[in-house]
Amino acid sequence: MATETTNLTDGMHVLADALLLNGIDKMYGVVGIPVTDVARIGQGKGIRFIAMRHEADAGNAAAAEGFLTGKPGVYLTVSAPGYLNGLPPLKEATVNGFPVIMISGSSTRDIVDMGSGDYEGMDQYNYAKPFCKAAYRIDDIKDIGLGVARAIRTACSGRPGGVYLDVPGEMMGMAMDAAEAEATLFKVVDPCPAMVPSQESIDRAVELLASAKHPLVVLGKGAAIAQAENEVQEFFEKTSIPYQPMSMAKGLMPDTSPLSTASCRGLALRSADVVLLMGARLNWMLSFGREKPWNPDAKFIQIDIDPTEIDNARPIAAPIVGDMKSALRLLNAALDKTPVKASDEWLSMLNEAKEKNNAKFAARTSADTVPMDHFNALGRINKVMEKHPDLYLVNEGANTLDDCRNIVNIYKPRHRLDCGTWGVMGVGTGYAIGTAVTTGGQVVSIHGDSAFGFDGMEVETACRFNLPIVFMVFNNGGIYKGDFQNIGTDGDPSPLTLMASAHYEKMIEAFGGVGYYVETPDELEKALEEAIASKKTCLIDVQIDIHAGEESGHIGNLNPVPVVGPLAPKPKEA
Ligand code: ADP
Ligand code: MG
Repeated sequence: MATETTNLTDGMHVLADALLLNGIDKMYGVVGIPVTDVARIGQGKGIRFIAMRHEADAGNAAAAEGFLTGKPGVYLTVSAPGYLNGLPPLKEATVNGFPVIMISGSSTRDIVDMGSGDYEGMDQYNYAKPFCKAAYRIDDIKDIGLGVARAIRTACSGRPGGVYLDVPGEMMGMAMDAAEAEATLFKVVDPCPAMVPSQESIDRAVELLASAKHPLVVLGKGAAIAQAENEVQEFFEKTSIPYQPMSMAKGLMPDTSPLSTASCRGLALRSADVVLLMGARLNWMLSFGREKPWNPDAKFIQIDIDPTEIDNARPIAAPIVGDMKSALRLLNAALDKTPVKASDEWLSMLNEAKEKNNAKFAARTSADTVPMDHFNALGRINKVMEKHPDLYLVNEGANTLDDCRNIVNIYKPRHRLDCGTWGVMGVGTGYAIGTAVTTGGQVVSIHGDSAFGFDGMEVETACRFNLPIVFMVFNNGGIYKGDFQNIGTDGDPSPLTLMASAHYEKMIEAFGGVGYYVETPDELEKALEEAIASKKTCLIDVQIDIHAGEESGHIGNLNPVPVVGPLAPKPKEA
């Protein structure tokens, strides 16, 4: 008996097709039940699969891709334990505003819903909701195209963020006629649409800006995410208004710009009377715009794509709600009619302070002292990076973060990735891998020794994929720094202590990478130059003073102060 031959496909093939149709040609992840063949089939169809060692790092690699390209980075996890490991970067990407999609396999719905104890059974879809912008579950093979489209649009549009896409194993094993399946797929039209602000809001802002004696811009990573560097640069050419760069906005304007107030931040914030926020939130990093060092009488203009961000912590006199490119285009056009220029008085007041501070700083960053501290080690790195302005910089740690942000200049947009809005440790190796994979460029990835401990195993991934990353571990033997203060009697190391005698460079040698161990600024410079020139995966153990650094870096004020006991502040002598 002749049977009709049908051309069947399955959920795993359809998922790969839906991603590829939408230009998603990379995926980071860790495979296992039930997604192993999702990765293999995707790879077979042309999705580059970066197989990593931990789901959180895969999530961070995908988040880096999202930040760098404005399109969602995608990562894949197995059910329950892999899924749980993947959640922190999903939340962190959402807090940072990076577009990312976490796809996770999950177990059989009806068994999970009955609580009958399925293999890795967990209500993943519902648990994910508070950790992302939106969660979707695809229960039917016919909905894969729709689910992928929903995920992409949600991740990219408005304020970008993380999306969770749940793909139950049984759904991926469903069969369907291939031609019918293809007909269910579609390409998302304009996933990140322009959102043009009202002319009225622009006029209100220009009027306020024109009234300012000491105008200041806070340039935030929203402008970097929006890829608005041309508009940003045009604005500063027109107005010469000084600006305070937030850390991942560095490079939208080169850090060497005379308008940067990075080295006179306190004075700039204290003295500004009208502040224009370009994609920067008035959160803890900016003292909510209402605490010291801000001038209490300052008025704020805020450009943001998210209307609910306006007035988050203080009144905003002139909100501009829309996407950064559209907003700045309108603003720049309005400034042609009503020109605004920063006064010489304001600029020289800032310059004077900058010159003084820079001179103090230069003495520390160019010192030849050994053992090194963060300052002279980073000073040398800055000297090397100056010669290679195309290098991407990834940076995490406490002092290693704070001091690097101040010392190492960035010259191009989206060339600095770091701990972000929450100050997260353990993002660095994932960011470095995502950056190298996405851009094809070279990355210098600078980690504190504690930060590196969270995700250091990914150096194996970097070696396996031959990525041109120079990892640098600032080894001062501790969280914040080497610490010997165990206030108990057990004789164990202090909770802050790590191994200063560790040779981190040996970790990469285990995987065929190149290790360097340096103790002096000259050795550091030589090793970094050599590592960059080699284009190999390298790790430099930068051995610094165990006493170098401050507890909690620049944000020690966020710690509660013990009232009693040996850690309580000593009473002042009368
Ligand atoms: P930073 O830490 O650099 O100050 P934040 O992450 O605090 O930056 O703020 C970034 C802001 O930029 C967020 O409020 C976000 O909504 C906004 N944003 C993101 N993308 C865009 C865009 N395309 N246009 C305008 N604003 C944007
Ligand atoms: Mg911010």
